[in-house]
Amino acid sequence: MAKDDLECSFCGRKKPETNLLIAGLDAHICDRCIQQAYGIVVEESKDEESEELSQELVLSKPKAIKQFLDTYIIGQDFSKKVISVAVYNHYKRLLQKKADDDIEIQKSNIILVGQTGTGKTLIAKTIAKMLNVPLAIVDATVLTEAGYVGEDVETILTKLLQVADYNLEKAQRGIVFIDEIDKIARKSDNPSITRDVSGEGVQQALLKLLEGTTVNVPPKGGRKHPDQKFIEVNTENILFIAGGAFDGIERNIQKRLNMQAVGFSASIKEEVIEKENLLQYIIPKDLKDFGLIPEIIGRLPVLSYMNPLDSKTLRAILTEPKNAIIKQYTKLFEMDDIEFSITDGALDFIVAKANEYKLGARGLRSLCEAILTDAMFELPDSNDKVFKVTKDYAEKKLNKSTIKLKAVS
Ligand code: ADP
Repeated sequence: MAKDDLECSFCGRKKPETNLLIAGLDAHICDRCIQQAYGIVVEESKDEESEELSQELVLSKPKAIKQFLDTYIIGQDFSKKVISVAVYNHYKRLLQKKADDDIEIQKSNIILVGQTGTGKTLIAKTIAKMLNVPLAIVDATVLTEAGYVGEDVETILTKLLQVADYNLEKAQRGIVFIDEIDKIARKSDNPSITRDVSGEGVQQALLKLLEGTTVNVPPKGGRKHPDQKFIEVNTENILFIAGGAFDGIERNIQKRLNMQAVGFSASIKEEVIEKENLLQYIIPKDLKDFGLIPEIIGRLPVLSYMNPLDSKTLRAILTEPKNAIIKQYTKLFEMDDIEFSITDGALDFIVAKANEYKLGARGLRSLCEAILTDAMFELPDSNDKVFKVTKDYAEKKLNKSTIKLKAVS
């Protein structure tokens, strides 16, 4: 056969019509068909990877999700319930094969309002652990509009990619926890904010991410510049959980409740309002009055609140969660064959100190460290195999420690 008569066995193009014609045993293939076939291979393997990830993702029903949260997080029942449902719906939507009907289930991004140290980050961490998905924790205070000094919002996705070991499919179904979302509230509505760059620009930049879009992400972070390679990340299936203390928002809530109470349509009577914890009455309008733009609020449709931690809760946090601080110390001592115990009196003392120093749950750990460091230093070398911490012991060690000074300063 003349050279020019050779043709591609797949598309039938004659050799002169192709750029390249590769010969096999009994057949030929042209460059175009190779490219097309390559495309099919890539698509197929993506589907397979996605299928594998779906099997990796462990999705339970809302009640089971809540039960899992219960093992790590004390109290916060309302938030745990709301979040269990939101997470269930979010991942149900994601695992659902492209449906034939055209009902599109919207994302159920979450916003958690509550004092610092009440367990907002812990909830996000626990959910990610349960689902076996990557979690990126980012701080809204470092984000700025493009063009200002600080980090572009895209770096949020850089973090997620990093946590997912640059596995794009994994990252695209991960969770992003945006802490301190209240710090990007609009200044004018919120006198307590002292940022130079108005938070509104950052809120605008966040919008698209929250809603679901494709973003060019610099894989190593930093500013975008023209000759940098980007990874295209689709945020459609990423679950965003925002958290913030929203200091002073109780005033807005109180004001609104007072107005409701004097109005004819009063649904909540003044006497049934629990003044101690006004956050439980929070509604999206309060967030708007605080300085979040309505579009952001719309894209964080699941709103919940965290209760302040009382002494009883703090006490339970010390001993009850699956990885409770005291359980951790017991384990550490056990590794040196030391039997560690702590009396109720000592535990109550630690809680009282955490309250006194206004350290909340975060302080429990540093108080325990201050009390136990000497023992952890000495005992591994000694013959003592039993170590009991009493209130007196705890008090003595804490008086010696610098934590007091740190807490006051
Ligand atoms: P936030 O994000 O609300 O500022 P964190 O989730 O970071 O607070 O909480 C700080 C630490 O306090 C957690 O790592 C955890 O050890 C402890 N903690 C806080 N709230 C709870 C809770 N409700 N149950 C168990 N531990 C808690």
